[in-house]
Amino acid sequence: MIFTVLTLFPAIFESPLNESILKKARENNLISFNIVNIRDFANDVHKTCDDTPYGGGPGMIMKVEPIYNAMMHIEKTFGKPYYILLTPQGRLFNQRDAKRLSRKNHLCLICGRYEGIDERITNFVDEEISIGDYILSGGEIPALVLIDSISRYIPGVLGNKDSILHESHEDNLLEYPQYTRPEVFMDMAVPKVLLSGNHEEIRKWRRKESIKKTIIRRPDLMERFKPDKEDELFIREIMEELTE
Ligand code: SAM
Repeated sequence: MIFTVLTLFPAIFESPLNESILKKARENNLISFNIVNIRDFANDVHKTCDDTPYGGGPGMIMKVEPIYNAMMHIEKTFGKPYYILLTPQGRLFNQRDAKRLSRKNHLCLICGRYEGIDERITNFVDEEISIGDYILSGGEIPALVLIDSISRYIPGVLGNKDSILHESHEDNLLEYPQYTRPEVFMDMAVPKVLLSGNHEEIRKWRRKESIKKTIIRRPDLMERFKPDKEDELFIREIMEELTE
């Protein structure tokens, strides 16, 4: 998978892409990064990438031509990537998107700054994505969020391929509670079942706790959850426990 990023601030990517899982994935040739400075594609001698908004108003707007020029350069080099514009006006990103986008060969993430990008950029992108209902100063952190979460689905990136199967938001459930040593911390003991060595009992406990946590913390997720017979039994038990 190639991740191309179009940004006015390439240095932001230096450390996050050079640590831990992403660094290893790059060294193992599972992913590669192509961080492109939009300013290199500005037409004038001053390398202007922003201008005042038509109609007036505060701040500056990123110009469309330098970004379009950068896109054409990328297409000449690699062929057409799948273009994603990071914008708070886009569709909210979730785990299903991370999985879906991990199947693309080449993603190009376009980062805005200032008051955003000239609206005409939307004619050249495949998707507009927001990482949440809040405003950040630029699209670089959202781009890193996408890169990190998408990479986890690329085969070989995670050391243990089972990790992703049990995580929160797989199956539309939050993950069950996890514990490690010590067995007792300030009178708080690890649930006995986890020390029992009985794998079937542990599996059932984890599944039920996962459902319980989701019902309590994120009931909205339960609307998309598809319970099997055993899950239905757990849901009934949980509802009884919660109303006791
Ligand atoms: N004026 C714009 C608006 O109200 O929609 C916000 C511009 S924001 C200060 C600058 C850039 O940060 C955006 O162009 C976008 O690339 C990025 N950005 C900010 N918040 C974001 C979010 N929640 N998700 C994705 N990108 C975001």
